[in-house]
Amino acid sequence: MNSARASASDELISRWRQVLIEMRRASAVAGHEAEAVQLLAVSKFHAAEAIAALNDAGQRDFGENYVQEALEKMQQLRGHDICWHLIGPLQSNKTAEVAANFDWVHSIDRLKIARRLNDQRPDELPPLNICLQVNIDDEDSKSGCSLAELPALVEAVMALPRLRLRGLMVIPKAGETSAFATLAKTHAAILARLPRLADAPFDSLSMGMSADLAEAIAAGSTWVRIGTAIFGARPTISSVGTTA
Ligand SMILES: *Cc1c(COP(=O)(O)O)cnc(C)c1O
Repeated sequence: MNSARASASDELISRWRQVLIEMRRASAVAGHEAEAVQLLAVSKFHAAEAIAALNDAGQRDFGENYVQEALEKMQQLRGHDICWHLIGPLQSNKTAEVAANFDWVHSIDRLKIARRLNDQRPDELPPLNICLQVNIDDEDSKSGCSLAELPALVEAVMALPRLRLRGLMVIPKAGETSAFATLAKTHAAILARLPRLADAPFDSLSMGMSADLAEAIAAGSTWVRIGTAIFGARPTISSVGTTA
């Protein structure tokens, strides 16, 4: 490793440590246990070497948006102990690869996709962890189910044996951090309505990114999805040559 590389990875690790400190601080301010919130490092458009450096430093969970890009990195990082999360929209023609290669999917908003993942999850793997993406405040976005559709989707996904329904996910419109409290309330209401979920690990709220980590933790986030604050600005799609 040349020294320019070594110092780039030192900077990366120091930004990652800084994010962990901010998470602890936000938990303390909110009066939550620091252990209640986990860091998902969002590595889309960043190279496998950066993931390897963070993984060696102790970061285990990584989030990717594009299936093809993620599969290439998984190849390059074989032998690393990494838990892979898909956080981007998922089309039907990619579900088999996702079912076979990921540990979590945060972005499920339709039963059709959930059923395909359930049918395609290989028997030798544990059930695939699922969060349902909810569209709370962004009426224009095509991603996420509505609050009205959510109860039926929860019931249906809960019944799929090769999936493990873990919780809810939201990507609020920029600045609309009140969506975090709405998601937390919705999660609590579902637990109250479906007591049998209390025995399942329906314990996850995937919310908060680089710009609103503290607000999300204050509202009860259990997974903050952080890209820019760890890896720096993302290269553009075209410079990496990635396709979804
Ligand atoms: C890219 C992305 C993130 C990370 O965003 P940053 O602002 O870079 O922290 C988090 N969640 C989702 C769904 C993303 O697509």
